[in-house]
Amino acid sequence: MDFRLPLDVLEYKELVRAFAESQIRPSAEERDKEGDWSPDLWKKMGEIGLLGLPIPEEYGGSGASCLMTTVANEGFGEGSADGGLTLALGAHGIIGTIPIVICGSEEQKKRYLPKIATGEWISGMALTEPNSGSDAAGSMETRAVKRGDRYILNGTKMFITNGPVGDVFIVMAVTDKKKGAMGISAFIVEKTFKGFSTGKKLQKMGMKTSTTSELIFEDMEVPEENLIGKENSGFLRVGKANLEWERTVLIAGSLGFMKFALDGSIRYAKNRVQFGEPIIRFQAIQEKIALSRMKLDASRLLVYKSAIKKDKGESAPLESSIGKLYTTESAIQVMYDLGQVHGGYAFLHEYPIERLYRDARLSTLGAGTSEIMRSIIAANM
Ligand SMILES: Cc1cc2nc3c(=O)[nH]c(=O)nc-3n(C[C@H](O)[C@H](O)[C@H](O)COP(=O)(O)OP(=O)(O)OC[C@H]3O[C@@H](n4cnc5c(N)ncnc54)[C@H](O)[C@@H]3O)c2cc1C
Repeated sequence: MDFRLPLDVLEYKELVRAFAESQIRPSAEERDKEGDWSPDLWKKMGEIGLLGLPIPEEYGGSGASCLMTTVANEGFGEGSADGGLTLALGAHGIIGTIPIVICGSEEQKKRYLPKIATGEWISGMALTEPNSGSDAAGSMETRAVKRGDRYILNGTKMFITNGPVGDVFIVMAVTDKKKGAMGISAFIVEKTFKGFSTGKKLQKMGMKTSTTSELIFEDMEVPEENLIGKENSGFLRVGKANLEWERTVLIAGSLGFMKFALDGSIRYAKNRVQFGEPIIRFQAIQEKIALSRMKLDASRLLVYKSAIKKDKGESAPLESSIGKLYTTESAIQVMYDLGQVHGGYAFLHEYPIERLYRDARLSTLGAGTSEIMRSIIAANM
């Protein structure tokens, strides 16, 4: 075993980190306060190739491996300290893209991937519904009925990242109710399709620099050529492959946020003087720093392991769920502990730890809750 990352991966991570630090971080606090989406920063992210990393080069992307994409997300998180934009990047570049990369037809790849790779079209993925979350397959209400050369979709999707700004979405809908999870299909939906609309932008506790909304389908017409893969393969084939990428690459953002918070907290603890000495001299503070570092290092190994397995073409339900569970629960604990290091200043906007603490709260909820990760892990054993 070699625990070192390949040199090209490390170099690319540093490039992305430095880009995010110089371009994204300076305005992160202000955009978080206002809940602003920034088309300008999105354009810059597209210009350096960040928006199409795992898309093959022939369709305008970089053809990056899962490990490279994972580490780039980590670097983006560390450099930007911007949870919302990191989430928007993951919704676009991973869950809104991987289904087309892995299961899409040649025509679908040619039509969608080049525009997604540059960011000209923003993408996302719509699985969750108002009454269907963890039990995504069992309680899905959105229906797709074949009529002639098109499918007619009716239903509402909830919590969709990039909903208000997105141009194209991977949408899951029931095509055969009797078959349960084996009766769900995945479609590529454009916002211009007749019958498509979005609900209002949802107000969130964190990840405020990303946008979230409902997607509403009223007799929405989707051409049959926009079905991904075979009918009824949406959940078990398209969805599962996508979720493993999501639970690896998107989670890597949290590694970056933990690193950023740790560096800032060490600086703070060296400068903050109480009882006549820097608080970093107190064992209680050292313990929080040491345990945060331990959690970060362990999370990294788990996430990289899952990415390396994906790059070998193997499925990684166990590894991606363990990595997701450990990393996200660690991230929440780390942000809490490092917040304690900041004392009352953790409660003010003045230091980024306040924003990072709010942003981290999503991580054990989205992409499958911690409870669901535990049950997937147990089921795989
Ligand atoms: C900011 C944000 C962005 C999101 N982005 C997207 C997106 O882009 N696309 C998308 O499709 N979805 C998205 N989601 C949805 C997210 O994936 C769901 O919120 C998540 O899967 C949980 O579903 P739920 O909220 O309906 O909770 P529920 O499923 O109702 O769960 C409620 C509670 O019950 C527990 N629970 C449920 N079933 C079990 C069980 N079998 N065993 C033990 N405990 C159980 C859960 O763990 C949880 O604690 C987003 C959510 C948020 C908040």
